[in-house]
Amino acid sequence: MAKTRRVRARVEGTVQGVGFRPYVFRLAGELGLAGWVLNDSRGVLLEVEGAPEAVDGFLARLPAEAPPLAAIESVAVSEVGPTGEPGFAIVASPQAGEPLALVSPDIATCEDCLAELRDPADRRHRYPFVNCTNCGPRFSIVAGVPYDRPLTTMAGFAMCPACQAEYDDPTDRRFHAQPNACPVCGPRARLTGVDAGESDALAAAAGALRAGRIVAVKGIGGYHLACGAGDEAAVAALRARKHREDKPFALMAPSLQAAHDLFVLGREEEALLTARERPIVLAPRREDAPVAAAVAPGSPDLGVMLPYSPLHHVLLADFGAALVMTSANVSDEPIAYGDDDARERLGDIADHFLVHDRPIQTRTDDSVVRVSSVAGERRAQLLRRSRGYVPAVLGLPVEAPRHVLACGAELKSTFCVAKGARAWVSHHIGDLKNHETLESFAEGIGHFERLFAVEPAVVAHDLHPDYLSTRHAQGLEGVALVGVQHHHAHLAACLAEHGETGRALGAIFDGTGYGPDGTVWGGELLLGDLTGFERLGMLEPVRMPGGDAAVREPWRMACAWLVAASADPDADPPLPATLVGTVDPDRWRQVAGLARSGVASPVATSAGRLFDAVAALCGVRTAVNYEGQAAIELEAACAPGERGAYELPVIDEGGPVVLDARALVRAVSAALAAGEDAAVVAARFHHGLADATAAACIALAGRHDVGTVVLSGGTFQNRRLLERTSAGLAGAGLRVLVPERLPANDGGIAYGQAAVAAARGAF
Ligand code: ZN
Ligand code: ZN
Ligand code: FE
Repeated sequence: MAKTRRVRARVEGTVQGVGFRPYVFRLAGELGLAGWVLNDSRGVLLEVEGAPEAVDGFLARLPAEAPPLAAIESVAVSEVGPTGEPGFAIVASPQAGEPLALVSPDIATCEDCLAELRDPADRRHRYPFVNCTNCGPRFSIVAGVPYDRPLTTMAGFAMCPACQAEYDDPTDRRFHAQPNACPVCGPRARLTGVDAGESDALAAAAGALRAGRIVAVKGIGGYHLACGAGDEAAVAALRARKHREDKPFALMAPSLQAAHDLFVLGREEEALLTARERPIVLAPRREDAPVAAAVAPGSPDLGVMLPYSPLHHVLLADFGAALVMTSANVSDEPIAYGDDDARERLGDIADHFLVHDRPIQTRTDDSVVRVSSVAGERRAQLLRRSRGYVPAVLGLPVEAPRHVLACGAELKSTFCVAKGARAWVSHHIGDLKNHETLESFAEGIGHFERLFAVEPAVVAHDLHPDYLSTRHAQGLEGVALVGVQHHHAHLAACLAEHGETGRALGAIFDGTGYGPDGTVWGGELLLGDLTGFERLGMLEPVRMPGGDAAVREPWRMACAWLVAASADPDADPPLPATLVGTVDPDRWRQVAGLARSGVASPVATSAGRLFDAVAALCGVRTAVNYEGQAAIELEAACAPGERGAYELPVIDEGGPVVLDARALVRAVSAALAAGEDAAVVAARFHHGLADATAAACIALAGRHDVGTVVLSGGTFQNRRLLERTSAGLAGAGLRVLVPERLPANDGGIAYGQAAVAAARGAF
């Protein structure tokens, strides 16, 4: 008899609920191996026995040919004695131990399921909840672990015999597919406000959309508000009904071809659009894009995604053109995901509701990604990391000796739990000052702690004493607190996602962050690693007249910068011609008084507020409805071909260097006063700041012998600033790192805090 070999393999990572056991079953069968496979608390455990070459082949192919949704982190193999037992079996899971197997993100409908969806002969033809082990909802329906149907929002649906047979058959694509369903036994869609006789809710919804109606559509992670993207009246009505809403609407295109008609797509954008995460992709719009003017007023870009649930596929195919698919909320509220809540909040906005009876466990917004040219390379950067990406594990370059919770910042809030070298960053939670959002923050932390068996001993938080995330951390008992400076967290997040543990220079530009000196920081040049930092430079500090009021009213920052830039510190600057008619002269004088005296006007080195000031001076915007709006619109207003730059001196007298933007502001106002086109002025302002930032970094890198520069903070989501600065740095031979897998904005703070807490190690 030939020699036999038996091995045991322990597979860890995202290996449950992704068709891994049937895959092992098939692979073993193909190679004529005996043995068994099971799911347990750590992942998948298996033994195979047979001819040594067959066992070798099995071990080589096991990771290489794993199912698409599996993310194998490790395979540990040990030799065990052959038992001679014939056959291969999928055996039951032992019910013990802490749950460590990882829950997969929600994944777009796979090709096999799409084929069934479109096949009139298939029992799931046009069934809006078709899914299999390779696709479908996961994170958004999971209520607990282990990932099994009773702990998902599918618990209330009993499978029919046909679905149960698929579920039980190891050779079937739906073996242990927890959300498995069909028209007989599964969730159903329904359109409100139509005749009861209407049987096909999706066809009826498409009809309503064609008739110019606004439809609230329940999707995977929440509700969208939908209307025809080319329907001027419908889009204008939607914008009016959503109130105070200036943000561009995202679109859903029926196909990649249709997306090409909307905006200019490179290879990278195409890959992102069709990726299984199905994010919203931002790219330059085509001039002749068939969309209503009110979709993205003033924006050179459009945000487009492709259908990612079977419901979307059918709806978009029936409608036959792009739809507006914007998050269903009113102004700053979080996206609606509960059915009663949606009915209440969206009742005045939507004409119809396309709903279904599969509950959503966790609100998960669409993710947003954009490709930028960074130092000559096209790099995809997530601007919002949520559906499709969460809760995929992110590595930490330094192992955390104890379990960590990082509470993040406040505005674009996320949190992060970590243990060992693994970190899980939450879905986008939003502004914690909103009561409902704060509740979902606390609930979400508990959910993640259970999902990933994290019991935090260390809790990292921002230094800002008034952030509600800081207060949450301080309210926890029996944990060690680690305060992490805001801009250091931005720097650390970027270093950690790139696996860096060494020192780097960071140009960290954002709106506001709490400085250890009690002032507002936000235009920082830092030298640091994961454990600490030194402040090597900053933007010229100015007053924020009226504090938070200066964030809401950019003209106040224009006033403060003109006061700072004035040759005569005791005189009020005259009201610029571009603001005459929009800013009351008496208020201008009052605000100038605040800026000069410093009363109720904190000192800030904020890059975001500098953008606000210039946006106001250029006549782009004097008041904003959301953070960063003025800067976004200033970037959009730039003359595309303009390459010139205003001078921004870097003051270097041995101490921290100062980017003296007063000269920049003087140049901006002089150019505008001389009648220069605001589009040209806006572009030269961007370039002036970029060139000075690059020059300061190049000088500091030489002085401190570092070769790597990180560009992060929300202000570096400005593509013009990012591309020009990174080109300058790369031109001097410096290596440029930018956030890619996490947002440059405060959505990345929690992960940075976790990396710092891990690196400080001993606590
Ligand atoms: Zn599928
Ligand atoms: Zn069924
Ligand atoms: Fe920030």
